[in-house]
Amino acid sequence: MSIVTDEVCENCEYEGLVEFVNKQGHYLLRCPQCDLYQKGFLDAGSSVHYGRETDTVYESNYHTHYAKRLPAKKMTAMIRLGAAARYMPQGARILDVGCSIGATLRSAVKLGWNPTGVDISQAAVDYCRKDGLDAYKVDGHQLPFEDGTFDLVTNWHVIEHIPYVMDAIAEWRRVLKPGGVLMLETPASNFYKAKKLGLAHLKFWPPDHVYTFNRNNLSSMLKKSGYEILPTRLTGGLTKLRPNMTLYAMAYRGYRETCRRFNLCKSFELTCRKPAA
Ligand SMILES: [Zn+2]
Repeated sequence: MSIVTDEVCENCEYEGLVEFVNKQGHYLLRCPQCDLYQKGFLDAGSSVHYGRETDTVYESNYHTHYAKRLPAKKMTAMIRLGAAARYMPQGARILDVGCSIGATLRSAVKLGWNPTGVDISQAAVDYCRKDGLDAYKVDGHQLPFEDGTFDLVTNWHVIEHIPYVMDAIAEWRRVLKPGGVLMLETPASNFYKAKKLGLAHLKFWPPDHVYTFNRNNLSSMLKKSGYEILPTRLTGGLTKLRPNMTLYAMAYRGYRETCRRFNLCKSFELTCRKPAA
């Protein structure tokens, strides 16, 4: 039995969010109106919980399996960045929030851009720095950068882990230059398997994730924070890629677009812009 609470949706302000608790007692609230899964607020001493002690989780060997897959991750990063290339000036300054072991930073260097990464994991930051990359151990919602520093802010599978999501979105806008672009990718709550399996599809839910979005509710939250939503074209900027990458990128785009049509995508991308004036 789902319990209806008197909590209000962070996105659409619907009152009456529904409890969503799995067998392990991990807890989110679902909005019946916009389908945003959100963390809500719990009484002290509640038997349900959400969110891990994230900086201890990511300190351990979380990044070890990432390191093995670095070549493939760099390729995906190159395609994602290729899609942003049309918006970028020469030597663009980019910030990757949740940079992990730096796949995006490494690909940005190859494109002639000037990347910086932040991550809450010291292990991840050390991994980047030993290879000469510019990386800092910082929370994504409190950045030590001046207003208007970056042409592009990216985060790939990060926003669903951040408890203060509206603060984070506003902070990324602050550090973007006017006209600067935010690109992100996150799991999709309307993925057919998540809908079919619900609570049994544990990968989508807490403790790792404190939100699960769909394209509509996340677009709406970004707009509320003052961004303009741009069309997401996954593999724009193909001319900036090497010929073998172009073929790979075209195959990737075909695959993603087919999946999207049938809700087979586990995740979705969004591209948006801080207004120029
Ligand atoms: Zn809602």
